[in-house]
Amino acid sequence: MIKRLLTTNSNKFIQSSSSQSQSLFRLNNNNNNLYQYKSTSTLTVNNNNSNINNISYIIRRMSTEQKIEKVVIVGSGPAGHTAAIYTGRARLEPIMFEGFMAGGVAAGGQLTTTTEIENFPGFAQQISGPELMDRMREQSVHCGTRIETKNVLRMDLSKRPFTLYIEDEEDKPVLAETVIIATGATAKKMGVPGEEEYWSRGISACAVCDGALPIYRNKHLVVVGGGDTACEEATFLTHFASKVSLLVRRDEMRASKAMQQRVLANPKITIVWNTELVSARGDGKLLTHVTVQTKGKEPEELAAQGLFYAIGHVPNTAFLNNQITLDETGYIITQGHSTKTNIEGVFACGDVQDKIYRQAITAAGTGCMAALEAERFLSEQH
Ligand SMILES: Cc1cc2nc3c(=O)[nH]c(=O)nc-3n(C[C@H](O)[C@H](O)[C@H](O)COP(=O)(O)OP(=O)(O)OC[C@H]3O[C@@H](n4cnc5c(N)ncnc54)[C@H](O)[C@@H]3O)c2cc1C
Repeated sequence: MIKRLLTTNSNKFIQSSSSQSQSLFRLNNNNNNLYQYKSTSTLTVNNNNSNINNISYIIRRMSTEQKIEKVVIVGSGPAGHTAAIYTGRARLEPIMFEGFMAGGVAAGGQLTTTTEIENFPGFAQQISGPELMDRMREQSVHCGTRIETKNVLRMDLSKRPFTLYIEDEEDKPVLAETVIIATGATAKKMGVPGEEEYWSRGISACAVCDGALPIYRNKHLVVVGGGDTACEEATFLTHFASKVSLLVRRDEMRASKAMQQRVLANPKITIVWNTELVSARGDGKLLTHVTVQTKGKEPEELAAQGLFYAIGHVPNTAFLNNQITLDETGYIITQGHSTKTNIEGVFACGDVQDKIYRQAITAAGTGCMAALEAERFLSEQH
């Protein structure tokens, strides 16, 4: 393997590797665009003076060869769009693959599945999730992001430039100097009758996000789950609800003892043991009832105006094929207080690496970090 730097008036030209049969050339032209070129011709180098004719020939050829993107962003929630806005403003010409129902969620991410957002700064009058995401997308484009409505199927992260394979275009892989993974997570659903009809109209997967909405105030709310998150969400909902019922599938909870004690001590929470959700129904506009079944008993219908799932999320990391270090539940592990992954040049932001906060604003915050870290990484390379 050899590495040589050759310069002409306007171009920085690197022969980065060579074998007997083939040389791999990379060009960094005066627009700071990188191109990769494989050649069977030899480049002659005499005492650091480059053979200008040869270089010009290769540069001409390179203009028809494949561009290496400086930044590719995978995913289009608040994390991906914030990364796009920052890298776009830094003139890194980002390209975003916003996905097409990847992980069962539309482009724009989880917020497209909800109605009112009350806690994103800047919107004193509520804004709907889809509208907020439309505005973020518009801002990304305004800052120079190219957006493709396609899923990234898989990536080869074993060497730089990284190679990304895109759905329906596998024969035209995308090369990237850096990749920002912002693929989010998908809240698990129960799949019971009535769920789709009343999703966001009484059914939610985020108590912290939706619990304070007027439709839940002073109402009977039902939480499904037996882990720490379920206990936290049930406790949080007691600030607004008249009563909270926590449905636990078994006769014990997975939650820590401290969490369980907090729930047991709260007079507004009733734990309903050995009980599963069967279905949900409403009046055509909002949820009004849930049907539950306790082991050994007949199904029972309860009046309830809110149903909150706290049964976990699935981070969208399957397409990484274990090339990036994940934790035991599939979330990307980032290094210290950064968005760096175990692979240099690959950054992760938003819910795909955060199972604690899971909010639009925290996702946006880490999207900003990923963009700044990618920019710093690129400037160290060139
Ligand atoms: C019902 C609900 C209500 C919520 N309400 C609020 C709220 O009021 N306030 C708040 O702050 N937070 C709220 N949240 C949480 C908030 O939506 C998330 O924290 C935030 O959206 C995470 O952003 P993200 O950018 O990490 O990823 P996501 O929003 O999850 O977006 C990731 C995107 O990447 C795409 N993608 C995945 N894989 C690929 C791939 N291989 N190729 C291309 N694209 C891919 C997905 O399809 C998705 O569109 C709510 C969540 C839910 C489920």
